[in-house]
Amino acid sequence: MRLILFGPPGAGKGTQADFIRDRYEVEHISTGDVLREAMKNETEVGLYAKSFMDKGELVPDEVVTEIIRQKISAIGEGGFMLDGFPRTLEQARSLGSILADAGIGIDAVIFLEVPDEEVVQRITKRQKIEGRQDDTEGVIRNRLRVYKDQTSPLKDFYEKTGVLRTVEGVGQISDIAGRIDGVLKQLQ
Ligand code: AMP
Repeated sequence: MRLILFGPPGAGKGTQADFIRDRYEVEHISTGDVLREAMKNETEVGLYAKSFMDKGELVPDEVVTEIIRQKISAIGEGGFMLDGFPRTLEQARSLGSILADAGIGIDAVIFLEVPDEEVVQRITKRQKIEGRQDDTEGVIRNRLRVYKDQTSPLKDFYEKTGVLRTVEGVGQISDIAGRIDGVLKQLQ
């Protein structure tokens, strides 16, 4: 199964991604995780990405697209779930070409729908628990703005291709997981 998990920052993508990975044996590919790891190791990509991430801006398309290209090529025939990619229409188009070149397609784009106020509350809470550097209040607001401007148009993009599945991302974690499960079971 090949999936995209998509939604605003704080929608619970990471939590639900763990559940989907375990249950459907797909490889979890998170561009945010790859970039944070690169930052920690102070690689060239990591140092470059840091300035964008610290401000809540998107890392340039070429950088993240190259990460995805390499990951997808390494996976070959296996299933995967993209988490945090694509985040712009340009990235979605590049992904389309990468997949077309590989002769594969996306089975579903799971859109985790969470209202704005809930998102701000959740990220503020996460900041207190995890201390993520990009979770300060100003940066959170910027990330939400970036999401609205650059990422939310992907909803229409994938709706048009018929792969979008909207899941209500509010409620108990297990209930949300159950809703996703309902969608994914139909694909099997
Ligand atoms: P995440 O962990 O998915 O919330 O990503 C954390 C940060 O990494 C984002 O705020 C961006 O700065 C950067 N990032 C992750 N994925 C992408 C992407 N697909 N395009 C651009 N920047 C990204």
